[in-house]
Amino acid sequence: MASAERFDLAVIGSGPGGYVAAIRAAQLGRRVAVIEEDRPGGVCLNWGCIPSKALLTGASLVETLRDHGETFGVVAGELRLDYGKAIDHSRKVADRLCKGVQGLLKKNRIELIAGRGRVAGPNRVEVRGASERVVEADHLLLATGSAEWTPPGLPVDGERVLTSREALESKRIPERLLVVGAGAVGVEFAYVYAAYGSRVTVIEMASQMLPGADPEVAAALQREFRRKGIEVRLGTRFEELKQDAGDLRVAVAGPKGSEELRAEQVLAAIGRRPRSADLGLEAVGVALDAKGFVRVDGRFRSSVPSISAIGDLAGAPLLAHKASEEGIAAVEFLAGHKRPAVDPHHIPACIYAEPQVAWIGLGEAEARAKYGDDLRVGRFPFTASGKAIAAAHTAGFVKILAEPRYGQIVGAHLVGAGATELVAEIGLAMTLEATTGELAATSHAHPTLSEAVMEAALAAEGRGINF
Ligand SMILES: Cc1cc2nc3c(=O)[nH]c(=O)nc-3n(C[C@H](O)[C@H](O)[C@H](O)COP(=O)(O)OP(=O)(O)OC[C@H]3O[C@@H](n4cnc5c(N)ncnc54)[C@H](O)[C@@H]3O)c2cc1C
Repeated sequence: MASAERFDLAVIGSGPGGYVAAIRAAQLGRRVAVIEEDRPGGVCLNWGCIPSKALLTGASLVETLRDHGETFGVVAGELRLDYGKAIDHSRKVADRLCKGVQGLLKKNRIELIAGRGRVAGPNRVEVRGASERVVEADHLLLATGSAEWTPPGLPVDGERVLTSREALESKRIPERLLVVGAGAVGVEFAYVYAAYGSRVTVIEMASQMLPGADPEVAAALQREFRRKGIEVRLGTRFEELKQDAGDLRVAVAGPKGSEELRAEQVLAAIGRRPRSADLGLEAVGVALDAKGFVRVDGRFRSSVPSISAIGDLAGAPLLAHKASEEGIAAVEFLAGHKRPAVDPHHIPACIYAEPQVAWIGLGEAEARAKYGDDLRVGRFPFTASGKAIAAAHTAGFVKILAEPRYGQIVGAHLVGAGATELVAEIGLAMTLEATTGELAATSHAHPTLSEAVMEAALAAEGRGINF
């Protein structure tokens, strides 16, 4: 192997954590290398957020035409659906953004090294594969993300049993699809496949969809899924897959005991595992938690002072914007900046099916435990929003939680059209430590969906107007 090249910072992984951290470090005058074994942009751009949103846009268009076309006088005859084209579009979008990341790295004079990185010392990375190099750096930033996890009884073959990774390339719409897991990924794919014509059943072990979401929000989502013909079975656990020449037979255990479900394809959306194995971490003494996520402190430093970790690799929530925010914070801390810590309560979670789901801050139960019965809760349903009615998207609501003394906003839970965009306003309000009174005093254009946020704030103040 060639002699070591020297950098200020070596980043392993070019997902939204790694590439964003690298750019920020370069802005701060650091000489940076990014090591990537696959496509620049990571899971997010290539196999996650972006291509899935391209597919979701198609699904939403299908649903709009099918369910609401007539309402608006758009009768296009029989809808012809070609899911292959939607997949082609999603791959093109991913390619475009992947090239965009390469361009950004180049513009910031960051060296992109193709190959698999392995930590060979507290300041040393060995790269193998597409290039064979040794990189030394004052600091190493681990941003290797996470990968799909499936239980041993659910072997992924890419044909009949898929994870999101295979699904994002598969052009087939099965007649019957079983989705295992009603987390964000399961919900989004269930929506896409159902819109393009699959009969979809979702099983979820927990007692609600989107475990972790507000129970009222999850119930509203489930109602809408039922209305779309998507069957959701809660409290139902995957037991065993039986393969034969015909349909797959899946044994599940639910509230009514054991049962066998049939499907042409199974999509496993159960969970993700950190990509911390084979990175050489144990040998250098980087401590991992029981699930293999790197243990970090509030500045993203691992148990080895010269090694930091961010993004999915550093633990939940596994979200792209959390990875980017941590990446920026990690390098700013390394540069000695006095900056606020990343507050997990200020990181929004979004699900982009229809209806959309978004939340930020405390859950209602958590907020009640903290503030008691004086917690201020303001609700506004989209059935009372002029814009939502005009657009024929009236499912869902906005719920804002505020502490009792000043009305400072401590959380929000949204389900309905536009929820993933609306939550940003509440995020800003929380950053500014704004109150429901201030949010309500902010003029919101009429008619917009954002008025629902203002109305929920008014309701929390006990002076709702339109509901
Ligand atoms: C289907 C799906 C949809 C999603 N949708 C959303 C969404 O809408 N919004 C959202 O916020 N999040 C979403 N996510 C989650 C999001 O993709 C992740 O949270 C995010 O990509 C994590 O970023 P990261 O930088 O930590 O790691 P990653 O994006 O996983 O990037 C890690 C990179 O490191 C590389 N790597 C790993 N090991 C090595 C090594 N040894 N050497 C060199 N390179 C290596 C990998 O090839 C990869 O490119 C979705 C995920 C999936 C699967």
